[in-house]
Amino acid sequence: MGRKFVVGGNWKMNGDKNQISEIINFLQTGPLNQDTEVVVGVPAIYLDFVRSKLPQNVGVAAQNCYKVPKGAFTGEISPAMIKDISVNWVILGHSERRQIFHESDELIAEKVAHALEAGLKVIACIGETLEERESNKTEEVVFRQTKAIADKINDWSNVVIAYEPVWAIGTGKTATPEQAQAVHRSLRQWMCENISPEVGESIRIQYGGSVTAANCKELGAQPDIDGFLVGGASLKPEFVNIVNARQ
Ligand code: PGA
Repeated sequence: MGRKFVVGGNWKMNGDKNQISEIINFLQTGPLNQDTEVVVGVPAIYLDFVRSKLPQNVGVAAQNCYKVPKGAFTGEISPAMIKDISVNWVILGHSERRQIFHESDELIAEKVAHALEAGLKVIACIGETLEERESNKTEEVVFRQTKAIADKINDWSNVVIAYEPVWAIGTGKTATPEQAQAVHRSLRQWMCENISPEVGESIRIQYGGSVTAANCKELGAQPDIDGFLVGGASLKPEFVNIVNARQ
């Protein structure tokens, strides 16, 4: 099917110049599987520093941006600014943005649309809470979150979806390979039916939530898992093993 495996590291609000230099060091040393696309999500204030230090085979992502090019939005950054420092990716709709900062499906979709228009590639995050899973609403939730984006964009070629069940994020409770594969499969099916077969078959869907060097191989062997979005483990040298999960 030709979907290139894509592994993202989401550093969240972690790291200082010392720790980031160590991360840059293990990313440079690797070796990173050349068949895997690698992107690291960096706190905004370090984006320029990290982009200037990392080799070009490692992509860099902002962890958020706003929905317009510029203006009176104190504290926000725009896709245009991200592009201006040669950073080509942005992570949008992470569950921490949705839950802690109350970002709605609609706002996230507007941000995705504007980031794509500005020429960024987007990792768009979706996923259900524990309550939603336990009341059998997983599919309803991930379809709704994806539909909000589908209502605002037509071209999915620069979008990667990260399916991250909220109950698995930072908890050490990974979804089983079967649980993750089931959601990835039904989301792909939904996209085939509701967007187009081409988009459904070509879209890359990452799994995120307590991915480690120990569980990445089994997860990465699932046919509809096209990569990972990694939080805690992306700050450690084991991230290299996760990048190389399919080797
Ligand atoms: P985790 O975070 O790997 O620490 O669970 C994943 C994420 O939030 O993207």
